[in-house]
Parts: sequence; structure tokens; C-alpha cells
Amino acid sequence: SPYVELSSSDSSGMIWELEGDDSVSYFIKKKLRVWSRQPRGQWELGTIQSTSGEEASISLSNGNVMKVVRSEILPANPDVLEGADDLNKLCYLNEPSVLHNLKLRYSQGMIYSKAGPILIALNPFKDLQTYGNDSVSAYRQRIIDSPHVYAVADTAYNKVIRDEVNQSIIISGESGSGKTETAKIALQYLAALGGGGSCAIENEFLQINRILEAFGNAKTSRNNNSSRFGKLIEVHFSSMGKICGAKIQTLMLEKSRVVQLANGERSYHIFYQLCTGSSSGLKERLNLRAVSEYKYLVQSDCTLIDGVNDANNFHQLMKALDTVQICKEDQEMIFKMLAAILWLGNISFQVDSENHIEVVDDEAVTSTAQLMGCSSQELMTALCTLKTQFDEDTIAKNLTLRQATERRDAIAKFIYASLFDWLVEQVNKSLEVGKPHTGKSISILDIYGFQTFQKNSFEQFYINYANERIQQHFNRHLFKLEQEDYELDGVDWTKVDFEDNEGCLDLFEKKPHGLFSLLDEESNLAKASDLTFANKLRHHLGANPCFKGERGRAFRVRHYAGEVLYDTNDFLEKNRDTLSSDSIQFLSSCNCELLQLLSKMFNQSQKQSVATKFKVQLFKLMQKLESTTPHFIRCIKPNSKDLPGIFDEGLVLQQLRCCEVLEVVRLSRAGYPIRMGHQEFSRRYGFLLSEANISQDPLSISVAVLQKFYIPYEMYHVGYTKLYLRAGQIDALENKRKQVL
Ligand code: ADP
Ligand code: MG
Repeated sequence: SPYVELSSSDSSGMIWELEGDDSVSYFIKKKLRVWSRQPRGQWELGTIQSTSGEEASISLSNGNVMKVVRSEILPANPDVLEGADDLNKLCYLNEPSVLHNLKLRYSQGMIYSKAGPILIALNPFKDLQTYGNDSVSAYRQRIIDSPHVYAVADTAYNKVIRDEVNQSIIISGESGSGKTETAKIALQYLAALGGGGSCAIENEFLQINRILEAFGNAKTSRNNNSSRFGKLIEVHFSSMGKICGAKIQTLMLEKSRVVQLANGERSYHIFYQLCTGSSSGLKERLNLRAVSEYKYLVQSDCTLIDGVNDANNFHQLMKALDTVQICKEDQEMIFKMLAAILWLGNISFQVDSENHIEVVDDEAVTSTAQLMGCSSQELMTALCTLKTQFDEDTIAKNLTLRQATERRDAIAKFIYASLFDWLVEQVNKSLEVGKPHTGKSISILDIYGFQTFQKNSFEQFYINYANERIQQHFNRHLFKLEQEDYELDGVDWTKVDFEDNEGCLDLFEKKPHGLFSLLDEESNLAKASDLTFANKLRHHLGANPCFKGERGRAFRVRHYAGEVLYDTNDFLEKNRDTLSSDSIQFLSSCNCELLQLLSKMFNQSQKQSVATKFKVQLFKLMQKLESTTPHFIRCIKPNSKDLPGIFDEGLVLQQLRCCEVLEVVRLSRAGYPIRMGHQEFSRRYGFLLSEANISQDPLSISVAVLQKFYIPYEMYHVGYTKLYLRAGQIDALENKRKQVL
């Protein structure tokens, strides 16, 4: 069959170029299907009827016949490969074939597919019957082996227990693509396996997620339950494979959301939950009003989410806080701080006859002061004056209206962000009580994907940087290590090209003239502005191929996933994110235990810029991942309407391109995905040989095993230290092993 022949080369290319005219005539003779690009850009299935010069007549499935130039025709896969569960299996690996395959599977409710080593997860936007205990045991016992998050988690679990190598599951994708749900599904599988049959751990994880989501998720324009922080959950296992603890690390909560909302978006769920769900007693103690009474919450014209009952969720949340052993007193303190933040937002300023700014002394002030544990006067002074220490004397200066508003918002953001960190700390404490840690772990990373909007600001800037880092990790593992391994071990290997993103990372990290260094430098200058920052970037980075200066305040970065235009508006301010030392002093002087604790936390964390803090947090996270065997899951959002059953090809293609899915598959099928040291291989399968062979060295035993079981020569390669096998070759040996054991 010509398929074998065709598939042995890089079959993404055009029929003509790769195979010469013989294959075109073969396609015509056998009426094989091809993809032809239509005037509007989409690909349609059809068959070639005839060719003349550079053109071919294609008969489309709808009966039309059209002329198409050769460069717009790609081979389609044969019927037997329709809906293949691994893109690896496709004869022809081109974009229309891949899209067609994923679309077909999606329409049949199969949201998971493999792309070589990656699991692709399409968001179904509806509940599927593929989760739950029956499904868990089916995957555990390998009764089902179709691609699934469960299968990924199972592989990771087996490896951490059997091979004693720590594992990680790295989940990425755009906002709303299903990362957080996928992380929950993976966690649920591990809890079911490692929980020893009891539901206690599963329930505990569920409750922790509830807390994190209440405080760290919000409705955005792209996702009604969008996580506004990155997280790494590390699950610890005992040597018996039981879960003996877990640890959560978070990455940069978006705190601007507390004080500023885009139209149609909401602040963190917890605020709406608290206002609607608290008991009348609690409401009274916190002097709490309806959502509609708080400026921080009403500014975006959106206070409800379809199908979400905030009040009910509040009751669930209180139970969750009980589960992680946050006592009732601490719970009340948390709610007090939330109410204080809401009232802070209602505080307004006025300018008196001498052009001095003062706080409007109203209910907002008295309520905030009462909740924070200070007098109204102390609060008003703290909001309007800047105290500077000169030797022995303290000099107080009046703030401008803008400065006072900024200070008010800075205090609100600070309280919320540190409250979030404190909560995570409490959750972590409850997860580790008295459970010894053996060092075996599986980490699940759920991190916001690459973002590109019409207007991209500081937040996109650091989020996209994080994605560059993760992409590099991905590249390293799937491309570089693979190739280096082959070369070191003497395997004949044709290099597969891939986008290396070192250049872009360098643009961000280089010292002293990388984006981060320049940003910090400019943030420290009193006279600097967004414009001077943009000029500085142009001056120092103009020649960098990953950078492109624009007119005015904008600049472009060539990311691995495409070019992004950033607007430096507010970059410096957001990066400084200063809370003046007298604000901190004020907070620590309040008669509120939690506020004192939170301000102490601030003093401990050095006064780093936001970008630097982010870099440090990310670095710690990546360091943890470096020592693990990674498993990658790419979540894909099939449509932007959040509806089931709609597969927007353009949108999916764009996401597939972003993560270089085709390149990964091309590489994985060109290579030998299974590899084992000779020692390990001979120990595992050597006993299948007759006595005579056993005395030999591991390499010879490996070769003898391969020969005895007729593994075809082109399916393996014997390296100096390892044995390399093509996909699927180990299954036969494993079966033999099981029969004998
Ligand atoms: P992300 O974390 O990538 O922003 P989420 O995980 O919050 O996205 O998913 C967004 C929404 O999509 C969820 O609230 C849920 O409604 C839906 N969803 C995602 N994955 C699944 C799934 N496996 N099954 C059912 N619905 C899902
Ligand atoms: Mg999320």
C-alpha cells in the first residue's frame, strides 16, 4: 500500500512535492481523498479528478467540481484512520487532517486525544459521563485505555510508586479552556487511588478547591469561574502509595481586581457570597449591606452569574473552612476583613476651601474603622497624609485627591492579597498535620495560558513571560533532552526543527538590559513615566530580534506563540505597587489580630517590585518542576461562546499552533518514545529467555530478548546505555511477561 511509503516521510507536505507525480496519479486512480483549500480559507474533502499544469480539478463531497492550485491541496487520511485517538497514528499529518480528526472525535463526545506525548483536552462545556468511580477503576485496571486525564494521572502514579521518580502534570491553555477543571479531575483520580478507599481525602481536596476558588476566582469576559492566580498542588505519597499530605504553592493573585473591574466582569466570588449568604447575625456584626451598595462591586454593571447561587456557595464555603480547621473566630476575622475592604471602597474624599483634601466623614468611614479596629480619626489621617521621618521629627504632608484614592485602593488590595496568602498558608497547615513526608510526590500545575488581547498591559506581560518559561520547559523535555539523549547514546537521528524560545526569555531576563531589569530601573526613578520607559526599551532593545519598538508608549514582543503588542500605560505604577511605610505602620497599629499578622507578613517579604516578586515565585515553581518527569496536558477552547457541540476550526487551529502540536507529533513519531536502560530492560524481561542467556551482560540480554520475540529491526535501536523502542513495541513484551508471571 502506498500509505506505508507515504507515511514514512514527513507527510505534512504536499502530495506533489513529496511523492512526485506518480503519487498524484495514484490518488486519481484510487479516488483517494484530499483536502483542498477553499476561497474562504477553510479546507474541504474531495478527490482529484485530473491535473493540468499547476492546477487540479477536485470533485468535492457536495458534488461540486472546482479548480485548485497544487499548493492548496493536501493528502487526506484513509477511512480506517477516522477519529484516531492519537494524532501519531495519522498517515498524513497536516493541519486539516488534525483538525478533522479532533472535530470528529469532539462531535462524538471524545474530548481527549493524544498528540504523541501530549494529552489534548477539548473543553466539552457540558457534563460528560466519563468521570466518577466506575471510570476510575476502569482506567486503573486498564479495562479502558482511551486517552483521558485519568490515564495521565495513572501513568504518573505508577511511575512515582514504581520508579520512585517524582512526577508532574503540567496543564496549560487559554483562559476558559478547562485547565482548572482538568487539574481537579487529575486530583480526584489521585485521591481515589491514594485515599485508600475512604472518601476523606477526596472530600478534603474538594473543600480546598472550594476555598481557593471563592477567594481566587472571578467572572471574567472569557470564563465565569476564571482563576486569577496560578497554582501548583504537590501531592505527597507514602511508600505504600497512600496520600500522606499535600502542599499548595500559588503564583501572583491578580489584586487589581479588588478595586478595579472591567465592564461585565466581577470581583472575587467571595464578596458576592458574603453579601448574599451571611446570616443576619453576621450581617449585623459586620454592618454588611447588599452587593449593590458597594462601589467596588457595582462599577462593572455585573453582579450576578447565570446559574450560580452565591448565597448557597457561601454556606458551602463555611463548611469548607471548617474542614480545613479554620476556627470560627478566624472565620469571623476573615469576613471582617472582607467587609472592611468593601467599606473602604465606599470612602470618598472632598476638597475644602483651602484646597486641602479630606475624607468625607460618613458611614463608610465609621464602618471601616470599626471593622479594622481603629478610630475614624486615625483612619482618615492614614488615608490623607503622608508622614515622613526627619531625624527625630515626623513631618506630615497632605496628599492630593489622586494620591489619597490610590492609597485607599492600595490598602484594600494589600489586605486582600495578604489575606489570600494567609489562607493558603492555613490550608497548607491543615494538609500536613502529623503526616510524615517520604519525598514521593506528584505536582499538578494549573497556570494561566498565553494571553493576547487588543490592548495588553502589565498583567499580560508577566503572564506571557511565565508561559515562555513553561514553553521552554516543554521544549527542553520533548525536544532537546530527546535529541541530546539520542546523540549521546549513538542513535542515528535526523534533527527535527523546533522553535527555540531562549531568545525571548533572554529579552526578558538579561541583565542589565532585559525587559525586567529596565522596568525595575525605571520604576525606581521618581521622574520616570510610561513614555520614558518605552523610550528606554527602544534605546536598549531596538536591535533585539524578539523586540520591536513602536511609536509612543507601545512595544512588541515576539513570543513563541506570536507577536504581542504591549501598552506601557501604568506599567511603572503597577510594578512599584507601593504601600507606603506609614500605611503599614497604620495597619499594624490597628486593634485587629489578623491585620497585625498580615502587616508582619509584609515586613518579612522584602520590598521587591511586582515583576521581581513574580520572577522569584516562578523560579521556585520551575525549580520544583525541574526535578520531576513531566506529563503535559494542553487544554483547548473549541469555541468562544462557551457552548457544547461547537467546534470553531479557526480558534482551535490557532491554539494548536500556539503549542506546536504538529511539531511535537512529528518528532515523537520520528523518534523512539520508549527507552529503558539495558540493566532495567534485562531485569524486567531477561527471565523470558532460557537459562543459557541469563549469564550474559545486560546489553546482550536486551538484544537476545528483542530477537527472541521478533521485534522488527526498524522498531528499535540499541544505544550504548539504553534501548530505544518505537511506540507500541513494549506492549507485546509486557503481555508475555504477564502470561509467564
Ligand atoms: P480555565 O481554568 O482554563 O480558565 P476552567 O477549568 O475554569 O478554565 O473551565 C471553564 C469552564 O468550562 C468550567 O467552568 C466548566 O463549565 C467548563 N469545563 C471545563 N472542563 C470541563 C470538563 N472536563 N467537563 C465539563 N465542563 C468543563
Ligand atoms: Mg482556571
